[in-house]
Amino acid sequence: MSITLFWFRRDLRLTDNAGLYRALSEVDSNGKVQPLFIFDENILGKLNNSKDKRMPFLWDAVQALKTQLEAQGSDLIVRVGRPFDIIKELIAEIDVKKIYTNHDYEPSAIERDQKIQKLCGDMEVSFQTFKDQVIFEKNEVLTDAQKPYTVFTPYKRKWISSLSPFYLKSYPTEKYFKNLISVKKKSPLVTLKDLGFERTLKIYPPPTWDKTLLKNYGRDRDFPAVPGTSHLGLHLRFGTVSVRELVREAKKTSEVWLSELIWREFFMQILFHFPHVVKGSFRPEYDKVEWRKASSEFKLWCEGMTGYPMVDAGMRELNATGFMHNRTRMVTASFLTKHLLMHWSLGERYFAKQLLDYDLSANNGNWQWAAGTGCDAAPYFRIFNPEAQMERFDPDLEYIKRWVPEFGTDKYPSPMIDHKIARDRALRAFAKALGKKTEKQ
Ligand code: FAD
Repeated sequence: MSITLFWFRRDLRLTDNAGLYRALSEVDSNGKVQPLFIFDENILGKLNNSKDKRMPFLWDAVQALKTQLEAQGSDLIVRVGRPFDIIKELIAEIDVKKIYTNHDYEPSAIERDQKIQKLCGDMEVSFQTFKDQVIFEKNEVLTDAQKPYTVFTPYKRKWISSLSPFYLKSYPTEKYFKNLISVKKKSPLVTLKDLGFERTLKIYPPPTWDKTLLKNYGRDRDFPAVPGTSHLGLHLRFGTVSVRELVREAKKTSEVWLSELIWREFFMQILFHFPHVVKGSFRPEYDKVEWRKASSEFKLWCEGMTGYPMVDAGMRELNATGFMHNRTRMVTASFLTKHLLMHWSLGERYFAKQLLDYDLSANNGNWQWAAGTGCDAAPYFRIFNPEAQMERFDPDLEYIKRWVPEFGTDKYPSPMIDHKIARDRALRAFAKALGKKTEKQ
């Protein structure tokens, strides 16, 4: 029997999975598909935190996948280690002829896949990868001059004009489940505990994308007290939902929500075309800003103790739940990079550790947007006023009272820095680095 390995990564679902569909539908007459998931030691090691909130979600998703495969009389091989070593072992252990998997666009994943492709070449195994987690990838949406877009609005226009039903069709994997390998004895699944993690969150915010929420999305999405957004970020991150299904619904129901899904792809293609953003500002001239280093101030920001309730509520929501509303993500990021004048990468790293929906491209792109250092960023002189943001987006203090119950009492700290002083300092520092005049000069 010739085996095609299907390697699940950021696509933890059986339905409408592009690579899985291709693996199942392209097996030879004497072939079968063996599904595989690897808990990657390189990634687990970097988490370095047994209480990481994403790991139980990931483990549950892997378990659910295994159970669904078992219900088909098949199984999911789950291994722990370095993907390169495990793939090498499996090729030797079972008669693997082909490996199919879906594209991953992060620089470290691209490097990993290139090494595995080479390994497969050396071992005479075919290695094939497919587009699954986005509608348009790599060079599929380019300017007329065949360059990557760096500004969102024209990117979005081109994205929408390029969309045809072809890009949104589902992959009917179920038609070919008969080509999954049949297994009599189930393989074991490593426990969360043995992986070195524990459960700290009782519940994950339920994903919601019913018609009512999407219809009201444009009206509600900016108010953090209102349950007005989908909470799908985590599911898009691990692929427990298909983006094609979401875009089909967005097209029917909410243009504003569709824009958000396009922002996701915008930042993915930025990371793909400009991988230098991982290490430095998209616009290198911004690396000349004299960013401040003040660990005690950074700690106050992390803990939600800045004395600015809109900032503190956001940070406390993040620390408690692993989620933060987009409005407060913008306010807290602006506060760290402008009011405290600290490098965006500090905040980016903190969010990367805490966010359930952490995604390198979206996190990096949005941090650089907020700091003013990225492509298509808000101009550096536009600085959020956290008080004004609170008055506008949480006028009844509902969100603030939920997360900062001591607000308004003498237990709540006074602002760690005056807004006007901080704003002037930021404007001066940015203007100096960019060789521009400040407003006052
Ligand atoms: P909804 O509002 O329902 O939107 C649907 C989906 O669209 C989201 O799940 C997400 O996949 C995508 N999306 C929405 N807004 C954006 C955006 N601005 N950029 C890219 N994609 C978007 N989003 C992440 O997915 N991962 C991150 O690590 C991340 N870090 C961020 C850091 C900062 C400083 C800021 C300002 C924003 C960040 N975002 C990130 C974008 C946005 O805040 C979240 O996607 C959104 O709040 C998630 O909530 P939701 O799933 O309810 O999204």
